Formats: sequence, C-alpha cells, structure tokens
Amino acid sequence: MSQVNDPIAQFLRENNKYLRNSDEADRLFSKGRKIEVVYAVVSKGIPLFRTEGVGDVNVLDINIGGKVISVPTILPEKMQAKLRRRMLEILRNNNPDNNTLTKYEQLGFIKITDNNGIKSWNCYVAPPGSEGGTDIGLCGYCPSCNILGSIITRNELKTAGTAYGLKSRVVHDPAFGTTTYKDAVVELTHNKVGDGVSYTGMSLFQESHVVPGVVFIGKLVIYDATELETKLVLSSLSSISRMGGGETKYGSVQVIILGLNASDRETVSSYDITRYVIQKTEGKLVSPEDVIKLSVEYLKNIKSFKILADPNKKIDEQNIQININNNEITTLWAKDNYNYSIAIVNYIKKVEGKEKKGSQKK
Ligand SMILES: [Zn+2]
Repeated sequence: MSQVNDPIAQFLRENNKYLRNSDEADRLFSKGRKIEVVYAVVSKGIPLFRTEGVGDVNVLDINIGGKVISVPTILPEKMQAKLRRRMLEILRNNNPDNNTLTKYEQLGFIKITDNNGIKSWNCYVAPPGSEGGTDIGLCGYCPSCNILGSIITRNELKTAGTAYGLKSRVVHDPAFGTTTYKDAVVELTHNKVGDGVSYTGMSLFQESHVVPGVVFIGKLVIYDATELETKLVLSSLSSISRMGGGETKYGSVQVIILGLNASDRETVSSYDITRYVIQKTEGKLVSPEDVIKLSVEYLKNIKSFKILADPNKKIDEQNIQININNNEITTLWAKDNYNYSIAIVNYIKKVEGKEKKGSQKK
C-alpha cells in the first residue's frame, strides 16, 4: 500500500542523477551529489541538550536584524551520534546471513563473530578510555560505518598497515532552537534518590532542561549516497524519538522531516530558516505548529524543495514515515555496502603499495 503513494520513493526516483549507483567502482570519490534534508526536532519532554558533563544547555547567539537573540542549540555531533545509534538499531533487526558475512571476511574484515559456524555482526559506539586510541566497537564495514564514517585500523581490516579515517557522507548544520534561551530553558532540581542512588545526603542537583514545545530547526546533507543508503539515513532520522543527556528519563522528542532537496549545491541552511522564524515570532514560545508553518513557508521559496510536512496539520498528525524494509537492508549489505567496502579495501591496498607488487610479478 505504501508503494502506491510513497512520496520519498517518488522523490528518489525522480532525482536519480543526484544519487550514486550501487555498482559504481569509484564510489569512494565524491561527485558532490547532495540530498538536503531539513527537519524539525520538537521537544515533547524536558530534554537536556548539553555537552557531556556540563550542566548548561548549549546556546548560540543569532543576530536578527540588529537584535541579538540567544537560542538553545543541538550541536551537530549530538545529531550525528544519535543518528548512528538509531541506524545501528535498525540494522540489528536484520542481521546479515552467513554468505554475506563470509564475503566481508574474505575482503579481510575482522570483526565478525563465528559461533559454531553461525556468523554474526555487531557494531556499537564505544569511545576509547582515557589512554586514547580509537573507538573499540565500530566494525569498519557495516552500512553505518560506511555512511557515517569510521576508522579502519589493523583491528578492523587485516590488510590495513596504519589507521585510515573514513569520512562521514552525512554532514550537519546545528539544529537551532526557535525560542529564546530565556523562554526555552528552565532549571529543575532533581533528587538523586529517584535516580537509583541510595544515599540521601547532598542528593539534590540542578539541571537546565528545554521545556516542552520548543522546536529546533536542523539540516543535514547526504553526499554521494545510493538510493538505499539515503533511505537508511532518512529512516533513521525520522524515527528518532529520544535525544539528549539522560534521554531515557527526559528526552522525548518528535523529529519531523520538513522537506528534501536534490542538488549539486546546498541551497538552504538551518540558520536562515531559524532567523526567518524568529523574525516572525520574536523568539517567543509559540505553538510548534506555527514554527512548522513558518519553516515550510520559507522552504516553499526554494522551487526545487520537496515539502513533506503539511503546514496545516497538528504535529501529532504529521505522518512522515520513512521506512527501509528488510529486503532493502539485505540488498544494501549484499550490494551497495559490499561494493563500497571493496572500494575501501582496494584503495588501502593501493596506498600501501600491495597492489603494485602483485601486478609487477606478471
Ligand atoms: Zn560498523
């Protein structure tokens, strides 16, 4: 049923020239093909958008025609980390089969578990300890590593003589709050007892929370991706429902994809849209529907933009579900992502001169 009226599938079909083919041999090299994605993050709880270990919500100043307004902000690295975690959740629901994993093993990838002949994959974010080093959980070959970036060392790939950084093909604008910091953030006092800590002395602490209803406008750009890779990113982004520090308790959010644009250049920034909104609302805590409506109004001025959000609907009626199904994930592993991994392995061989040696023997 979704096939009949699937605006995303239609958009991707129509803009095929801004995507890459899954079997292109030179996919490691950018052709500058871009899918811009503008989205809104609506606070529905009391999220903590702050840098780890710091008590304050991240804040930036925006100049609106001579007047400087401070707004809370979700930093790009927070969006990227959340996108990766959500993407890995989606991928873990459809583990690649033995044949597929054997193919990656034959390329030289190491992080494949073999349990009595049953192979399995996992990839997770595990930052190195204080002693430094690289992330110990990233596998170096899954769609998430190949799309969002990873580091390939001798621990991930047999033939890697040194560490290779694989850049993310998803880049971000900050997601700016459209309400002034003063109206968007409250200090709440928490009791550590309720946090599972049993002692009661000195157990009160304060955190700065974003209040419900604050809308953040963000943008990401997907570079040089295939149709299925794009779908995986969109499906991960649109299904984020919790964000920020202590997200299990505080961070309920709704992500609404406002629109998409396929191009060879970037046409809009979250900064421009935020300024437009604040100029109209003066940064007051207006209803989220008003912010969506104004943002869509702005995007409509860019002719090529495909608007997905309905400016006349309530936020809980915005039904922009972008799903990647199991068959598509299987194809992604077997084809799009596998070909990308082949390109990486060949490139590393070339850099290390291993390929040359082989060809000189002839
Ligand atoms: Zn991975």
